[in-house]
Amino acid sequence: MPKIPDEVVKRVIDRAKIEDVVGDFVTMRKAGVNLTGICPFHDDKHDGNFIVRPSSIPEARHGNTYRCFVCDHKGGPVQFLMEHQRLSFPDAIRWLGKKYNEPVDDIPLNYTPPPPRPKPAPLPVLEIPRSYVRRTMEIGGDQTLFIYWLKHLPWDDEQRARLQQTLWMYCVGGWKDGRVVFWQIDHNGIPRAAKLMKYLLDGHRDKQAHPGWIYNQDGCRQALDPDNHEIIKPLFGSHLLSSHPKAVVNIVESEKTAIIMANYYGDPDTQLWLACGGLKHLQLDSLQPLIDQGRTIWLWPDKDGREAWQEVADKLGYYHCRLYTHFFDTCWREEDGDKADVADIAIRMMKTGDKPRQAPEQAATAKSQEAVLPLGAALHLEPVEWNNDVPFMDLEEMNDPRLRLWRETLRQRYNFNKTRNNE
Ligand SMILES: [Zn+2]
Repeated sequence: MPKIPDEVVKRVIDRAKIEDVVGDFVTMRKAGVNLTGICPFHDDKHDGNFIVRPSSIPEARHGNTYRCFVCDHKGGPVQFLMEHQRLSFPDAIRWLGKKYNEPVDDIPLNYTPPPPRPKPAPLPVLEIPRSYVRRTMEIGGDQTLFIYWLKHLPWDDEQRARLQQTLWMYCVGGWKDGRVVFWQIDHNGIPRAAKLMKYLLDGHRDKQAHPGWIYNQDGCRQALDPDNHEIIKPLFGSHLLSSHPKAVVNIVESEKTAIIMANYYGDPDTQLWLACGGLKHLQLDSLQPLIDQGRTIWLWPDKDGREAWQEVADKLGYYHCRLYTHFFDTCWREEDGDKADVADIAIRMMKTGDKPRQAPEQAATAKSQEAVLPLGAALHLEPVEWNNDVPFMDLEEMNDPRLRLWRETLRQRYNFNKTRNNE
């Protein structure tokens, strides 16, 4: 059998796109810069282990390849065909030649690519009326145990002065039985889900009570009809992205941590705190809006979550997303205990008066990217005058002039301090 000339092989391989080839056999969906689907090489139940790095990504960053993080099958278009369709190398080249209309040779290939898979009709995505947000925020006062606990933390004066504002920005609400409502509003400002959680007065979650979802609550289920909708769960705090376009995005596990850290540091124009809801809930597609916006993303896993989140960062393969462990590594003390998360450490530091040191690697990023303030930089903000009786408001009123004024004040103070620190 004559050998296929090298230049023909090269021409075919140059044209082959992994996303086309795999897409003929596996239903793929977008996940960050990658595509993902059910792995065809092992008995895969979970969509997310099998990753395709499309051909648009440079070769040096493993573009035009596939890989399964469970069974470790990997390679390019030719390897995929050889392994998945059990083709010989010349037949894989012929297959690709047929697909891309590149003449290879006259030897017939006794294989016909299957027709593309039919896609199931998608369900409409659940949109929750904004009036629901408002209603929960109206009962989000001291009768919500989480808010009551939060108000009684040893904040300094600046932090205390902005607490109401922080809660308001995150649309933290309450339920009639004392549970807190954490809204998951997407980056376009559309409420998609809300998690109801029971906290105890010591700030810990009531482990007896499972978190509930708003669309499963009495009176909501019928109106929202979750069974006939696709439910998406954006990162908690996603709605803040559009109003803070230059902020670095810090992602933590729990909503509680996001709120505490947001209020601890302030200045959302520089750094936003988003939560994924738990160690296992950091999903590639919930990070998509952040990648589309070209954000710098810092992942702040709890101590037991570092390995898992490093894996997510690897799968994501997005250059501006990395693990951030400096705060934990430099601020953790014996007395915090092994189970402490970053919020526990921040609360202990409020009590003891310790301040976080500036992180060197973050300072390095700040130099290379404009408008990135290193975490822990001293802002020296004076308390902002704010009427604590301000009622919680609906999202439509997020552009309230008082909020704009407050942001402007922060910005000016920050610029002022930056100038002063440079002198
Ligand atoms: Zn696999």
